[in-house]
Amino acid sequence: MTDVPDKISVLKFGGSSLKDPGSIERVVSIVAGRLGEGYKVVAVVSAQGKITESLLKDADIYAPSGNPREVDMLLTTGERASAALVAMALTSKGFPAISLTGSQAGIITDDNHTNARIIEVRPARVEDALREGKTVIVGGFQGVSFKKEVTTLGRGGSDTTAVALAAALNAEVCEIFSNVDGVYSADPNVVKDAYKIDEMSYQEMQELSEAGARVLHSRAVEFAKEKGIEIHCKSTLEPDSPGTVIKGFETREKIRKAGVAYEKNVTLIHTYEPDLTGLSTINNVLKFCRKKNVSVKQISFHKGYKESMVGSFILSKNDNYSCDPFLVELREKFQTAVEIINDLSAVSIVGEGITDKPDTLLDAIELLKSNEIKVSGFHTSSFRISLLLSTEKLEKSINLLHKYIVG
Ligand code: ASP
Ligand code: MG
Repeated sequence: MTDVPDKISVLKFGGSSLKDPGSIERVVSIVAGRLGEGYKVVAVVSAQGKITESLLKDADIYAPSGNPREVDMLLTTGERASAALVAMALTSKGFPAISLTGSQAGIITDDNHTNARIIEVRPARVEDALREGKTVIVGGFQGVSFKKEVTTLGRGGSDTTAVALAAALNAEVCEIFSNVDGVYSADPNVVKDAYKIDEMSYQEMQELSEAGARVLHSRAVEFAKEKGIEIHCKSTLEPDSPGTVIKGFETREKIRKAGVAYEKNVTLIHTYEPDLTGLSTINNVLKFCRKKNVSVKQISFHKGYKESMVGSFILSKNDNYSCDPFLVELREKFQTAVEIINDLSAVSIVGEGITDKPDTLLDAIELLKSNEIKVSGFHTSSFRISLLLSTEKLEKSINLLHKYIVG
């Protein structure tokens, strides 16, 4: 045997990169390429093509108001199947490989079914297999709780599996492969002039992901930032191009508007307090969300019109698999103490320093207004401005705001 250093390469392949035999063949050749460069390889895989969507549709037939434990049992089969297929394909081409479920790979999570967080990675079996000279294919998006229950990490969660494994195995880089060649300034399916961004900071990427960009799971970025792992997003068609590199930067002096992201179909919920002591409705509504395993975003609570107290928060359909039946129950339980607004979407501008001054926010509001688009609300965080508007106007708004940030 040649004297090769023990370098580990962690790769992740998305569903579109595994959808048919031709795609799997490409994955095999990328893995073979990394092996040829002297790396030991761990490849994390998503479910093939649109399998997750189709499993979710099945779940809707038998458990229309949700059954998070069984949904996790069901969804994890998608990643398990593609891991086994890739392991078979590699082995039959002369590259010995073994597939592992998230649980077998030591991905330990909390017990929050359908949206679990990784709390620890114990990659002993992965390391053993690598030592035996095998390539390890791990089913992404899944783990096991301390109670030995199978869990999933939320839509797009395979990215997080990959980054967590890269950290646990001391890899410096995690390569995320998909059918696009990097992170774009806006969704290229919506904005025809969107361009690829060569480098992004962790925080910019995290804000883009949280604002709805599907290229990377936001927790994957959170993990990468914490552990100092570089993420390279690239296309399976160009495995040797750098794609988009996400890493830490010294603070930039200049304000930059990096990109526009959107989240289609969010639900805005207002709560009203019947008396001035406040907090009772919002408390009960949030407790109800917790009981029903519904995750909420951007909660606020403050004094409203004529001394009444109002709360508000947002539900994302993407984060919650059985949103519609939940909303019906919410309405029945809380009646007029809640207002449920359903036809909204959120569009966000992300970039370092963009909320240092109110200029970008004011420009965005003015621009939308002059195009007869009504803004139903907005909020800002240090790297992001998010505007709520009607879903009907979403595409137009994304294009207008992208044109604005390009200048
Ligand atoms: N298959 C899961 C999904 O479609 C997880 C993933 O792709 O990362 O969300
Ligand atoms: Mg997928």
